[in-house]
Amino acid sequence: MSDYDVVVIGAGNGGLTAAAGLAQKGHKTLLLERHNVPGGCATSFVRGRFEFEIALHQLSGMGLPEFPGPLRGLLGELGVLDKIDFIQQQNLYRVAIPGRMDINLKADRQAVIETLIEKFPAEKEGIQKFFDLLYAFCNELVNVLFIHDPEASPEKYPLFFKLALQNSQGILDQYLKNPLLQTVVTIYWSYAGLPPSRLSFMELAMVIWAYIEFKPWHMKGGSQAMSNAICDAFLRFGGDTRFNCAAKKIRVQNGKVVSVVTEDGDEISTKFVVSNAGPIRTLIDMVGAENCPEDELKKLNARTVGLSAFTLYMGFDCDPSEMGIDKATNFICGTADADYAHSKMKTLDGAEYSLLTCYDVDDPDFSPRGACQVSLVTLQYAQPWMSVPPSEYYDTKYRFAEKLMDLAEKVFPDLRKHLEEAEPATPLTHMRYLGHPGGSIYGSEHFTRETSLFVDSKSAIEGLYFTGAWNGSGGFQPTLQSGASAARQVSRLLKRQ
Ligand SMILES: Cc1cc2nc3c(=O)[nH]c(=O)nc-3n(C[C@H](O)[C@H](O)[C@H](O)COP(=O)(O)OP(=O)(O)OC[C@H]3O[C@@H](n4cnc5c(N)ncnc54)[C@H](O)[C@@H]3O)c2cc1C
Repeated sequence: MSDYDVVVIGAGNGGLTAAAGLAQKGHKTLLLERHNVPGGCATSFVRGRFEFEIALHQLSGMGLPEFPGPLRGLLGELGVLDKIDFIQQQNLYRVAIPGRMDINLKADRQAVIETLIEKFPAEKEGIQKFFDLLYAFCNELVNVLFIHDPEASPEKYPLFFKLALQNSQGILDQYLKNPLLQTVVTIYWSYAGLPPSRLSFMELAMVIWAYIEFKPWHMKGGSQAMSNAICDAFLRFGGDTRFNCAAKKIRVQNGKVVSVVTEDGDEISTKFVVSNAGPIRTLIDMVGAENCPEDELKKLNARTVGLSAFTLYMGFDCDPSEMGIDKATNFICGTADADYAHSKMKTLDGAEYSLLTCYDVDDPDFSPRGACQVSLVTLQYAQPWMSVPPSEYYDTKYRFAEKLMDLAEKVFPDLRKHLEEAEPATPLTHMRYLGHPGGSIYGSEHFTRETSLFVDSKSAIEGLYFTGAWNGSGGFQPTLQSGASAARQVSRLLKRQ
């Protein structure tokens, strides 16, 4: 008799929905989390009078009550939908390249097309055709990947089978000529973690389509409120949690999971583990390479650790309008060359790409009255940060923060004038809090030959499953969905036993 039917390691998005789904189905489930709060990236922290949102800028997949997206369905099934006060963001995004371009798009297919045609009239035909293609492709994708049409074939879904694994840049170049236009249309490449030249069309099309169709959302209390709500549901379903309690070892006998050992030496017997800690940490550190089948290790070797982030969390002593901020989501770039912006993410030279999000624009109660908060983020690989000597780390991160502010002040010149709190987080911060190699926030990189299509949540070790960004795409919607999917798979096996 096992102590638990399932032990879930890590209370990030994927771990939370996996644990809640399993407990809801009546399985005795333990959730272990090394941090003191649930959520992983989906958490908050307090400085001064501000509670800062750590990660979520825009939530995809919710949809409207009358046109629900998959995430609305998932949260409804877990009974947490009415525990969270969702806020719809009015705009898709603004993209500014100071001195060259400044465009705001509404989260509506027709409005996006009309705005783009107004700004780039010479490209009218290409813009219309590109969005027709993107929508036709995504409709096929939904049938193949989410509805699992048993008769899916290249004849029935020609666009999906032809384009899914093609490089996005090649497809863009056929329809959109002006690099500025390409920048506006594809700025969400940053949510997938690779520029269009290295990203499969499937990953890029899905992220654009998902935000336009299901609208961008945020929530009162930030993503921590959603993490808390899912964790509360898990407890209501009878689950057990241990915070400040890292899993150290997964014991395997004859190729099967038998127990989990915590950092304080407690051994918990179980036949199933769902790990939100990513396959590298789980297989190498917890299972031990000597217990892993060779094929599994080869698959690990083929993966590339993805991007992390540098974020400057800022609290201001005024309303957003006083600094000219009237849109929640503002991409501010120094270049229209995504490859160049991406190459800068491997250096400490300063950012060519940034995203400035002000939550108070759509939710005036997000910060204390008369104040507001901004999350100013750029993507960064961990390598250059790992080379900084500890004695220089503090100065380096503030120098980098100043450069990021310089870029943002080209659009919002009064930021420094109203600054009350500022806290930078680097890839090393994410490594420390999440435990992932490189502090990766999206798991491994999904370049064309390594898309999320090829990632399996079931490991070669019997009873061991994965969830979260490393098990598919990064981002809130995919990770929350991956946990629900892992719960369904494990529950099916448990019910058979
Ligand atoms: C600055 C920033 C901005 C972002 N913006 C957006 C956005 O606007 N929209 C969007 O959709 N996505 C965004 N993301 C990405 C998104 O937040 C992540 O992809 C997603 O939250 C990852 O979820 P996950 O399930 O992989 O778990 P993680 O968040 O990676 O959490 C893993 C959990 O496992 C725990 N853990 C690890 N090892 C152990 C162990 N040995 N024992 C116990 N526990 C362990 C960790 O402590 C952590 O809690 C952003 C991320 C960041 C950091």
